[in-house]
Amino acid sequence: MAHTQTYKKRALVLRKTKLGEKDLIVTLLSNSGELMRCVAKGARKPGGSFAAKLELFSAVDLMAAKGRSLDVVTDVRFAEPAGVSTFGLEQTTCASPVAELLSTICQEGLEQPRLYDMAYAAFGRIARSSAEQALAICAASLVKIISAAGFRPALAHCHSCGNPIGLQAGKNVLFSVDGGGATCQDCARQVEGFLVDVQAIAWTNAFLTQRFDEILAQSPGPSTSFAVLQLQKPWIEHYAGRRLKSLDYLLTCALF
Ligand SMILES: [Zn+2]
Repeated sequence: MAHTQTYKKRALVLRKTKLGEKDLIVTLLSNSGELMRCVAKGARKPGGSFAAKLELFSAVDLMAAKGRSLDVVTDVRFAEPAGVSTFGLEQTTCASPVAELLSTICQEGLEQPRLYDMAYAAFGRIARSSAEQALAICAASLVKIISAAGFRPALAHCHSCGNPIGLQAGKNVLFSVDGGGATCQDCARQVEGFLVDVQAIAWTNAFLTQRFDEILAQSPGPSTSFAVLQLQKPWIEHYAGRRLKSLDYLLTCALF
């Protein structure tokens, strides 16, 4: 008789896709930072035991059995004794690009535990935040995560020569996605890019280097967070290799 191999993992729920009438394919980020895709059988049946526990952005303790293509979830428990955080519409809209970026850049079999910690902190913070704060946490999380994955934009210093950019108000800075980020005036003639208000660069730098508490203490408004998100959109598309649909939605939804 074939022996079914089962395993236990703590993971964050990033995405749920319908499979047939009653099942779900769940994309998760394990606490070692690996992407996982599992089938949750019967998860869409009313009162199904999995349905309530596979909430998006929640941390779960999962039991799964090795399958031929996808592994099969056999048990799910909330990782937190208090259960799942509740996400309102704005909070869901802000958590979705973070989840989509992670499901794009993380891979099966590649351990990146720091990304799990960052995602866990981001989802927890977004759940507890106002709409305006959640937007700032989303913008900060995207730049922190893409940077931690190896694609950190140059912001305070020129990507080419390393000279300080000088993040004072009232000027435009050339931002080169291919080149690696902010470009000083001396190097600007040699690279392609687009001009951005230096404030967008300065805020992106703050969102990248400061903790969530420090960022929120400065009460960044929606226009600040949107400026950071707009700067990151082409950066993420280039380095993650595709557009994030949920980021497109966030930038056009008029919820904030
Ligand atoms: Zn330079």
